Amino acid sequence: MSATFDSIAAAVASAHTIGVASHIRPDADALGSTIAFAMWLRSLGKDARAFNEEGSTPKFHYLPGHELVATPPAAPQKFDLFVALDTSVKNRLGTVLGAIAPGTPLANIDHHVSNEQFGDLNFVDPTAPATGQILVEFFRHTGAEITPAMAANLFAAISTDTGSFQYAGTNERTFAAASHLISCGVDVPGLSRAMYDSQPRRRFNLLRHALNTAEFHCGDRIASFSLPLETVRELQVVPEDNEGIIDHLRSVEGVEAAVFFEELPEGKVRVSSRSKFPSIDVCKVCKIFGGGGHPMAAGARINGPLQKVKHDFLQALANEIRN
Ligand code: AMP
Ligand code: MN
Ligand code: MN
Repeated sequence: MSATFDSIAAAVASAHTIGVASHIRPDADALGSTIAFAMWLRSLGKDARAFNEEGSTPKFHYLPGHELVATPPAAPQKFDLFVALDTSVKNRLGTVLGAIAPGTPLANIDHHVSNEQFGDLNFVDPTAPATGQILVEFFRHTGAEITPAMAANLFAAISTDTGSFQYAGTNERTFAAASHLISCGVDVPGLSRAMYDSQPRRRFNLLRHALNTAEFHCGDRIASFSLPLETVRELQVVPEDNEGIIDHLRSVEGVEAAVFFEELPEGKVRVSSRSKFPSIDVCKVCKIFGGGGHPMAAGARINGPLQKVKHDFLQALANEIRN
């Protein structure tokens, strides 16, 4: 069922124990939205529990309240309501799914155009460039107080998902939301330093490696970078180090799409793709391989080996670009 802000607020009002979670390999939109929503629920006196498959990873320890996010319990729990945020398909909740008892009402609040409307209540707004923006609009609609800690989480969500207010989808509502958050107490330079100028040296080493080994295809219209498990071991990088490396490939003049292939221990390959123009729909390409996302930023997990995934995906992407 399609939800409104009012129907979501009503579902929250009639529930007491409420779970909140987001997708595997969380980004700041996933965790920031989870934390802000859980903080709001707690301010209402709810028994709010926030989860992520990975808990709160060190990269996001700058988010105030990150310690609220726990790894999910192994056995199913009873919730009056469970809220999935920034999650396009149910199985992207990962191991969190095992913690939700069957029959639990599920609310799905998201901004992915490929969202599968898997909730009992679905609020999906693909015109929002971040789930954090939807939550700002939700809190303003319901008259909820946005504390400075909630504001920092929501600002981080919006800033990172929009590439610092640059990407398609960034519009006047985005700046209105950001402006409101600043009025609620966000320290923009301090938060930006934590988000963008505090990368571990490990990640710098990975970036250097990526720039040295990047490949160009399709008449230099596609740039790609592969990360085999062997290199992960050599550089001792962790999954969170990968985020954003792909943007350096897309930033090259003439490159219209960038792809990052990451070999995963379980035999799959995580593909991350970005396009530079709305006319090149990488979500469409990822969907061929069972993935999804947004038209200009999408991903998929594809059965390996790495070289075959690379070949097949680049071929499909070249077709999309040439058409
Ligand atoms: P990423 O490249 O991992 O930063 O993801 C880009 C966008 O695609 C995000 O909005 C993700 O939620 C979405 N996405 C990534 N991987 C998948 C997947 N396997 N299935 C569906 N959506 C995905
Ligand atoms: Mn996300
Ligand atoms: Mn998002």
